[in-house]
Amino acid sequence: VRDTASILHLDLDAFFAAVEQRDKPSLRGRPVVVGGVGPRGVVATASYEARAFGIRSAMPTHEARARCPHAAFLTGRFEAYRETSSVVMSVLRERSARVEPVSLDEAYVDLAAAPEAVPADGAGLRAFVVELKSDIADATGGLRASVGVGTSKLVAKIASDLEKPDGLVVVRPGAEDALLRPMPVTAIPGVGPATGEKLRRVGVRTVADLQRLGTDELVALVGKAHGSSLAELAHGRDDRTVEPDRETKSISVEDTFDADLVDPVVLTGVVARHARLVCDRLRAARLFGRTVTVKVRLHDFTTHTRSTTLPAPTDRPRLIVTLATALLEEVDTTTGVRLLGVGVSGLTDWVQDDLFNELEDAEPSAWAQWAVGGSETPASRRNPVGWAPGADVEHRVFGPGWVWGSGLGRVTVRFETADTGPGTVRTFAVNDPGLSSRGSAAGPPAASATDDPAPSARPPRPPGTHPSRGGR
Ligand SMILES: [Mg+2]
Repeated sequence: VRDTASILHLDLDAFFAAVEQRDKPSLRGRPVVVGGVGPRGVVATASYEARAFGIRSAMPTHEARARCPHAAFLTGRFEAYRETSSVVMSVLRERSARVEPVSLDEAYVDLAAAPEAVPADGAGLRAFVVELKSDIADATGGLRASVGVGTSKLVAKIASDLEKPDGLVVVRPGAEDALLRPMPVTAIPGVGPATGEKLRRVGVRTVADLQRLGTDELVALVGKAHGSSLAELAHGRDDRTVEPDRETKSISVEDTFDADLVDPVVLTGVVARHARLVCDRLRAARLFGRTVTVKVRLHDFTTHTRSTTLPAPTDRPRLIVTLATALLEEVDTTTGVRLLGVGVSGLTDWVQDDLFNELEDAEPSAWAQWAVGGSETPASRRNPVGWAPGADVEHRVFGPGWVWGSGLGRVTVRFETADTGPGTVRTFAVNDPGLSSRGSAAGPPAASATDDPAPSARPPRPPGTHPSRGGR
């Protein structure tokens, strides 16, 4: 265990909603909800103004609408989030050679790997973080982050949550146990609503209660891997290091077939089995992944990959299976499939909370629908019926704006950008020839695709399973 507070955890405040408010001046200071807007949609992020109405992540969107009908409900612009995230990560990488992104809006930084020594005393360290936060705000057009610094990932993570939004908490070495013991158990990363409820039923409310519970009892309650790590964390024992390369590694399983597979039921079964094997390996390695990729090689050796990125990491088999099968459906497999693979990347060693547990209980395919089903294909981009609320558009006459709403053959656009004041609203026919989507940011998240041409004269792989796994 480290003896200096050298681990920094940074968490951008209400990230998706903050990016929307930055790019849509009329929404600044107003309740904004980003997530699925369909009947089975769920909230991904709510702005602080929306949280005042009790709106939370993972809440069904229809419930959020009931709580705050005048909020702006947007499907989200994953490319804009990804671009902004990479700006933040590069600001962090200027401060340290060891930066581990946990999700688009969260990262750990090892200050011991800083090119210029970071002051270890309280005042110097705080000044360092204040400057970092202001650099991030400058680089991103005003985004706020909450930062915690401590001797471990656990402490830094908890500290970053203490004064949200725009927080800054440094936990001095030796102060960890005093910080942890009175905290609610849900402050421990990995204890979300579902685990928290299990613990509450056996009378565990605080970290001090958790310390009194034995490891065996914890394992019986929440499973082996989760239970034994919770027992360690309850005592502040956390020597996990900041792993800069973890995000780019992946765990995957693929299979080449003797005879091309055509039957969609068989193909779906294979993808589901691969996805479950990937989950087994994730769990064995105590890792969580954010990006699910399906790789399909057709009879003519063209290789197609489809992937989608979730806002937060998961190791939930049902979610990963649902995503993988949805991705497979995006590939035309009618001519026969020679190779099929499923991979998970964007690996982290910590899950943010039980978001996906909750979603699975409530609505197994809600995220999949949001992340894959809503993905914009070139066909739907041409189809103006697909104007999603919040999507970036451009009008030949009126310039850049965003979709304020659509329906009954009309689409309403507000003409404003990050650099303008609040803009005016105009309504068009959905097929107005002057209106087009702007950039790649018009669709909801993350689904991406590549179709590689057939490699010439490459011999087929021998049949059999070839599990491949990125090393750690
Ligand atoms: Mg955040």
